Amino acid sequence: MIIAIDGPAGAGKSTVAKLIAKSLNFLYIDTGAMYRALTLKALEQGADIKDPQKLSELAAHTDISLLNDSNAPLKVLLDGRDVSADIRQPRITQFVSEVAKIKEVRKIMVELQRKLGNKGNAVLDGRDIGTVVFPEAEKKFYIDAIFEERVNRRHKESTGLGQKLTAEDVAADLANRDKIDSGRAVAPLKQADDAVYVDTTKLSIEEVVNKVLGFINE
Ligand code: C5P
Repeated sequence: MIIAIDGPAGAGKSTVAKLIAKSLNFLYIDTGAMYRALTLKALEQGADIKDPQKLSELAAHTDISLLNDSNAPLKVLLDGRDVSADIRQPRITQFVSEVAKIKEVRKIMVELQRKLGNKGNAVLDGRDIGTVVFPEAEKKFYIDAIFEERVNRRHKESTGLGQKLTAEDVAADLANRDKIDSGRAVAPLKQADDAVYVDTTKLSIEEVVNKVLGFINE
């Protein structure tokens, strides 16, 4: 079974997706982490982020893997190197949406995501899982929250990671990514027609998980 969880940044997608995967003993596939890993490689190599040809060549020669352990944070390997912490840095967050809007890059990432998902039962979170990657997914969710709440959550998270971002910095980043992710020509962020919409603004993580599990078990 494939469970697709889409939505904007800060809505609680990845936290919920990981807990659902753990509770069902499914594989957890964080597709945003893949775009982030490629962005890290591009920045490290000094590549022009806005050069689609360069970025797609880079994507074709990059090995990204996700190591699942339901009791530990997901491990992201970039060409065999653990980059789980590096990909959460603000400079990656700042540029990732530019990389993710490149058509050829998406083609390579979507192929990898389908390959991983088709291994068996999986929960995938992202922006285009229910619309493009697995349109035939058995269960689809669109996880959302009002902008201010998403900013609060991301700000707390970044402070917890020791990053010195102000709430204004976080708001600017989220607004920028929302705009690029929703406005791009290829696989824009949008709710699939058959996805269940969950507004998490006033819900705790536990409440969201229970709600989503309720729909899965229906
Ligand atoms: O989920 P996360 O915030 O880590 O994703 C980082 C970025 O990767 C998003 O802002 C978006 O630009 C891109 N992304 C995407 N499609 C996905 C997952 C993430 O375009 N399926």
